[in-house]
Formats: sequence, structure tokens, C-alpha cells
Amino acid sequence: MNISSLIAQAERDCGPVFAALEETEMKNTRRVLDAFRAEDIAARHFAPTTGYGYDDIGRDALERVFARLFGAESAIVRPSIACGTAALSLCLFGLLLPGDELLSITGTPYDTMETVIGLSGNAPGNLKEMGVSYAQVEMAENQTKIDVPGVLDAIKPHTKVILIQRSRGYAWRASLRPEEMREVIESVHNLRPDIFVMVDNCYGEFICENEPTHFGADVCVGSLIKNAGGGLAPTGAYLAGTKRAIERIEARLTAPGLGREVGSYAASYQPFYQGLFMAPHTVTQALKTAILAARTFELLGMKTTPAFDAPRADIIQAIEMGDPQKLIAFVQGIQAASPIDASAVPEPWDMPGYTDQVIMAAGTFVGGASIELSADAPMRAPFTVYLQGGLTYAHGKIALISALEEMA
Ligand SMILES: *Cc1c(COP(=O)(O)O)cnc(C)c1O
Repeated sequence: MNISSLIAQAERDCGPVFAALEETEMKNTRRVLDAFRAEDIAARHFAPTTGYGYDDIGRDALERVFARLFGAESAIVRPSIACGTAALSLCLFGLLLPGDELLSITGTPYDTMETVIGLSGNAPGNLKEMGVSYAQVEMAENQTKIDVPGVLDAIKPHTKVILIQRSRGYAWRASLRPEEMREVIESVHNLRPDIFVMVDNCYGEFICENEPTHFGADVCVGSLIKNAGGGLAPTGAYLAGTKRAIERIEARLTAPGLGREVGSYAASYQPFYQGLFMAPHTVTQALKTAILAARTFELLGMKTTPAFDAPRADIIQAIEMGDPQKLIAFVQGIQAASPIDASAVPEPWDMPGYTDQVIMAAGTFVGGASIELSADAPMRAPFTVYLQGGLTYAHGKIALISALEEMA
């Protein structure tokens, strides 16, 4: 089969899956609109501020919009939080005290969290140095489910925070839909209401019609240069959760006693609002790109997760290339079809915070934004590439054709 008839076949197969996605997009767009209307968002909320940022109405209203959308009591939404890892780290340092234990219940967390926790490296100021211990529970049933009895067994008197990572990250495990977290969250809170359940929600926002906070998670954390920024937010991250959790975290964000009352932004808040408005649509475009890629490589006999027609909980598509040359060609083909830096040729390199060499394609408007089409892969067997993002499906499809051409 030549490339264009392969893609045409894959696209036909994807039709019913795409139709279901558009329904979710409708529902989530309605949820976003409802939150904007409830907060009466107007042009005055876009205005930049300087200095301390007391009474910054754009910042405060944006935080209330996020809290509503997440069914949460409170939220922190700040351009000043450098990235998703910084927000997750902020959350952990806000909630944990020396002598407490952090329990990850979705196996080893995302690579960049290892240096925060002190699992790898010896970065000054990590949780281990702070006297916070760490334990983890692997996922059950072939890495598809949270091991609820195992989690309850692993809870110790000093367990303070339970970490759930929604997305597969760079691991060959299932991603989790918010409703799949309900049972463990309820069981933990029944046993120990004082434990904070935090969810690394990166890549998960707007895939489903609800978020983990709707099922009782104490706090959800994510990056604004992924799903929730809709491809328009230029930087930043959010945390949404209970008043009890956010109060502790905001003390670390600025200073105890100051919390969310300070923090200015000297550019317009418009891209944050507009990005959030676009997010359900953008996420759908990214999902369609992922699903088309999955079906295409399935037709070529390769192993994918999730399968093109399986339920999804994040925007990541894993494809097992089985061969380093194919993997490199795929990533280079994606880069060559990027709007920005198309002439750059990605090569595997040692990236700070990651254990293996990594190769990535990212030709993005917002530096490193992975809601824009990007592909990354740690250089380790079985040479799985992780594809995510795509602001438009048309671009996703063109890039997939480019990757197939490069591989041929
Ligand atoms: C992206 C991501 C993070 C945070 O990464 P940053 O690059 O620091 O934004 C954490 N966990 C998961 C699962 C992620 O996808």
C-alpha cells in the first residue's frame, strides 16, 4: 500500500472514533463557557499588572474560572510557575513536612519527578534532603489498574500525600480516566481523611467530561503549555483543589501570609483565557492526530498503546518502533513537517532530568509546548516513540505523512 492509500484507509477506520470525540468537545466547550459566564469574564480581565499585583482582577478571575471547571474550591493559575514539574514540586513542598511520607500509587513517577523526590541524582533541596520519605505501589493487572488493596496496605501512619499520575508519561502503562481514580480516592479518604491525594494531571485535561477533582482528588496539577492552555498560553501552570490543600500550597508559591494575594503579570492575561476557551477544541485536534497515527501504524503491524479505538485518558500515543533507525526517522519526519524550525534535524542527546538519552521533535510556536505536535523517545528498547499534540488535525496528518516518507 502506498502512503496516501494507507492514510486514507486509516482515516476511514477512525470515523466513528472521531465522531465520539466531537461529542466530548461539545460538552467540554459548554463547561468552559458556563465557567466564563458564571464569572462574567470581560475585557477588563485581560489587563496587565505590575509590582505586587494586589487586586489583580485578571489573575483572580482566572483562578476562579479554573476552580469552577475542576469542581474545586480553589485554584492557583500562574504564569510565574515555570513548568509542570515546578507546579508538582510546589504542590509536594506545600503539602509535605519533614517526617512525612509520599506514596506514589502509579509506579515510578514521570522522569523529572525523580530528582524532585530524590530518587535519582542529588539535587540540593529535594524532598529526601527535607526529610520526606518515599514509597511506591505498582499498578495491577498488567499495569492497567490502581492496586487498591495494595495501596491501603502501603499506607503508614506518616503517609501524608498520595500521588496518582494520570498519564502514562514515558512508561508502557495505561493512562487513567478520572472515574478510574474514584475507588482509590474514596477508600483512602475513608481510612485516612487527613491524607492529600494529588493527581499529576499533565496531558489529561479535557479528554474526558470531568477531572480527578470531580471524584474527590484533593488537588490536580498541570501545565499551561499542555492541554489546559489550548496552545495559546505562553507559559505557566495551574493547581486546583480543596481549600485545605491550596492554602498550604499558596504559602509556598509566594510566602506564608501572602499566598495568592500577590503576583503580577506585566503582559495580557488574554492568551490564558482564550487558550482555556480553545482547549477542548485543541485537545480534540491532538486526539484525532494521535488516533490517526495509531491506526496507521496498526495497519503496518506495529504495536500501539492505546489502540486507535480504545478509551483514552491523555493525549499521548505510544508506538513501538522496535528499531532505533525507524524511531529516529519517525522523529525527524515529524520535525521536518513543523511550522517552526523545520530545518532542524533532531538527534538523541543527554537531557537534564532524564536517565536515558532522549530524541525529540518539537517545532513549536510556544517553546517546548507539547500540546503542539511533538514526538519524544528515550533511546531504550523497544524503541517506543511518544507522539502528542497537534494544534490542527490537518497539520497532524501532514506530519504523519512526512514521518512515513522519512521511514521509507
Ligand atoms: C509534562 C509532564 C510533567 C511535567 O513536565 P514539564 O515538562 O515540567 O511541564 C509531569 N508529568 C507528566 C505525566 C507530564 O506529562
